[in-house]
Amino acid sequence: MEQDRAWFDTDLLERFQRYARVHTTSDPHSSTTPTTERQFDLARILEAELRALGVPDVTLDQHCNLIARLPGTVDGGETIGLMAHIDTAPDFSGEAVNPRVIREYDGGTIRLNDEFALDPAEYPMLSRYVGQTIVTTDGTTLLGADDKAGVAEIMSAVSYLSSHPEIPRPDLEIVFTPDEETGRGMETFPADALRSRFCFTVDGTDEAGIEAECFTAYKVTVTFAGYSIHPGSARGKLANAAAMASLYASLLPRSESPEATDGRYGFYCLTEISGSIAQAQLAVIVRDFDADAAQRRVAFLETLARTVEGAYPGGSVELDTVRQYVNMAEFLKPHPQVVERMLEAVRLTGMEPTLHAIRGGTDGARLSEKGVPTPNLFTGGQNLHGRYEWIALPAMVRASKSIVNLVQLFAGARSSP
Ligand SMILES: [Zn+2]
Repeated sequence: MEQDRAWFDTDLLERFQRYARVHTTSDPHSSTTPTTERQFDLARILEAELRALGVPDVTLDQHCNLIARLPGTVDGGETIGLMAHIDTAPDFSGEAVNPRVIREYDGGTIRLNDEFALDPAEYPMLSRYVGQTIVTTDGTTLLGADDKAGVAEIMSAVSYLSSHPEIPRPDLEIVFTPDEETGRGMETFPADALRSRFCFTVDGTDEAGIEAECFTAYKVTVTFAGYSIHPGSARGKLANAAAMASLYASLLPRSESPEATDGRYGFYCLTEISGSIAQAQLAVIVRDFDADAAQRRVAFLETLARTVEGAYPGGSVELDTVRQYVNMAEFLKPHPQVVERMLEAVRLTGMEPTLHAIRGGTDGARLSEKGVPTPNLFTGGQNLHGRYEWIALPAMVRASKSIVNLVQLFAGARSSP
């Protein structure tokens, strides 16, 4: 495949810039799915491109889920899915993205515009790509490598595979979804329609990184009911819900907050608080890699509720606990060959793969829970969700080649159930 490096270079650079220019920002305040109609703009482009590549079975549904099926070239393999999200983060403008291409990067500071610059002293990953092609923003928007790099890498791999039928591959499903950034996309995703035994999101960052583990996550909403009475005649009667909520918040262990933890440590994070004397509410998210430890944290929040209730006679505290997603490692454990093949697929590109645990969740975690184990492959994108986002072309090429390798490793290799 080495002789095809130039083809991947040209195809990916053009493709990525084209997708990056389409405004697909999602909106956490919208109640529709997709949360923004504009996500259809890119979905329709991809739909047309997949058809033009000769992919026979392409469906775009009313919620902006695109599922396409490319038949295999061998019998006996398991269907696998390749998945990326088309929206970009609402944290920063994704309108009028104007990608800048720096060829033969000289290793110095890259000026984005008069005001902002990318300095390798601050972002040492840049020095890995001296002499290579790098794509940056013009300093006014994000780049959208999260996850248009993933979209482009999958599309390049599919284009390559469809014009190289001599490469053995199983049936493939190509899946593009909206609203990963708002966490809403999976709510309307037709998981039952998938035929894939395993799926792979292409939505990571550092080159050669593989993620097969993420947090188990709960959101706990705590509601405080007080007893309201004129403060002038309140002695012995008033129960102040706002004060109860602030006591509760102060009892959350600061040493187990997101800002005090990293690596494999979990945390509690107070995400919202509001209220008055009569009623108050707060929300705490709980994260842990270990499912039992996550449950113990939820039980601790229950204990805190009883403690606060005891301190405020006349007041009451109620919890509403929602499990948001589960560590995908649990679903991958019975199928060790999946991660082994990912590692091998990356190694075949000449890179040494690295395994990480995601301190967050992915759409893949939610899909894993629905019965399709879905680990995550790198895209090469850096400094995601802001003006300093950049991506190196060789990283995109190796991501795309990793996908081609992975597909071959699944061809004809039926794994244990
Ligand atoms: Zn993403």
